[in-house]
Amino acid sequence: MPKDQQENGRRVAVVGGGISGLTAALRLRLLGHDVELIEADETLGGRFGVGRLGDRAVMTGGKNIGRRYETFRWFTSELGVDSYESFGYNASRVKDGRVLTLDSERRGQTLRNIRRMGSPRDLARLAAMAVRIRADASNRFLGSRYFGRISRRHDNAPLASYFGPELTDALIRPMVIRNNGAEPDEVYPGTFGTNLAMLLDHYDQLSGGIQPALDAMAERVRVRAGARVERLVRDRRGHVSGLAISEAGAPAEIHDYAGVVLATPAHATAAIVAETEPAMAERLRGVRYFPSTVVLVEYDQPIFTSDVRALAMDDGPCSNAGSYGKEERHIVRYTYSGNRGGRLVDPTPERIDKLTTESEALLVKHLGAPRATRLNTLTKHWPAAYSGYLPHHPVFLRRLHEDVVSLPGLELAGDYLQGVSIEACARSGRAAAGRLAAHLGGAAR
Ligand SMILES: Cc1cc2nc3c(=O)[nH]c(=O)nc-3n(C[C@H](O)[C@H](O)[C@H](O)COP(=O)(O)OP(=O)(O)OC[C@H]3O[C@@H](n4cnc5c(N)ncnc54)[C@H](O)[C@@H]3O)c2cc1C
Repeated sequence: MPKDQQENGRRVAVVGGGISGLTAALRLRLLGHDVELIEADETLGGRFGVGRLGDRAVMTGGKNIGRRYETFRWFTSELGVDSYESFGYNASRVKDGRVLTLDSERRGQTLRNIRRMGSPRDLARLAAMAVRIRADASNRFLGSRYFGRISRRHDNAPLASYFGPELTDALIRPMVIRNNGAEPDEVYPGTFGTNLAMLLDHYDQLSGGIQPALDAMAERVRVRAGARVERLVRDRRGHVSGLAISEAGAPAEIHDYAGVVLATPAHATAAIVAETEPAMAERLRGVRYFPSTVVLVEYDQPIFTSDVRALAMDDGPCSNAGSYGKEERHIVRYTYSGNRGGRLVDPTPERIDKLTTESEALLVKHLGAPRATRLNTLTKHWPAAYSGYLPHHPVFLRRLHEDVVSLPGLELAGDYLQGVSIEACARSGRAAAGRLAAHLGGAAR
């Protein structure tokens, strides 16, 4: 029994040990419920991508935490692991032989660089969205009223048609590749607020990475790792009453729960509900996901400078090369996302080695980086790294909400509900927990 587990709550399950599930589990626990956190992998963290580079713990997935990430910061503060260090938003791109840098700590220079990138009409459109995002926090997430209007008017064509080619190429493309792993013709204007909100934030990183938070969670709730949820179980009234869970590859067994939060990506959620809710599963399968590969390389000397810490590479071999930390500029994170950014299907070590060599040559050419020696390499491939959502996403969200309302005892969390950022996922988890607690009769906090 985890430390100070209360006995007066109901037995509930949260499926998925990523940030969506972790926040849902923590909130349910704080509301007094007996929480079981079920994770298919052997370790918690999901797309934080915890791993090892040489002898140090690293994260190959999400690790930049915005100053506006209120829910995620609530989560780390509740767990007592909230020591952050500044990282900033620093992204450079080579245009006509010049390195243009967008840096959240150099607003003036960043605005001048953005002005060079687009037509007055484009800049006006971008500015109008930015003003709305600053004025109303709901515009940072999917499902807001303002972006709902944009979606109704403009989602018949992809984002690539909303802004002109110059701004799309210079600014929009690096943003959606970075945040959705998608090209601008694969995402839609109605979801662009989630991207722009990320550009408008300033970033920190957890000083000790995410592992201390994962360890603290394992103290708070019961963790069932290496356990794959196969399907929902409903009682005679149609209420969700349990889950079929397969552990270590054994045939699935039924476990009873008073309530369930599925905090898994849309495709995984679809697989879990498919047998009992085929129409809902079909809807969830429509949500688009894009792959990404991240390669971390540790060198014997710094590659980046403090002014330029990331370079978007427009036509490959990777989509982006950036330093791992503000001070850890000897570790480079190469990301392969998007069609032109070397989207990889099956990254073999030979292919990664060749692409890394080509990327290194570009860093030498454009940034004057030193010819350094590689000490350690870690590769992580996600076949479905980021959600790119759907055109007319608010319509999808409305219909999905109707599906869920007809299934008492079930709540959903995940990257396709409010957005892919760690904050959007954390918000979805915290909100799902509050709704489930209200259903179970607990007071939402
Ligand atoms: C390379 C990369 C870099 C990123 N960088 C940033 C960043 O710097 N800042 C930022 O804000 N965001 C970033 N993101 C986005 C963010 O990290 C993710 O969107 C977020 O972590 C997703 O969390 P999640 O809990 O919704 O999903 P996941 O982390 O994927 O968690 C879902 C979990 O469910 C488990 N699961 C699935 N099916 C089942 C099943 N049937 N039974 C049991 N368990 C199951 C999975 O194993 C997984 O652990 C990044 C994403 C990637 C891929």
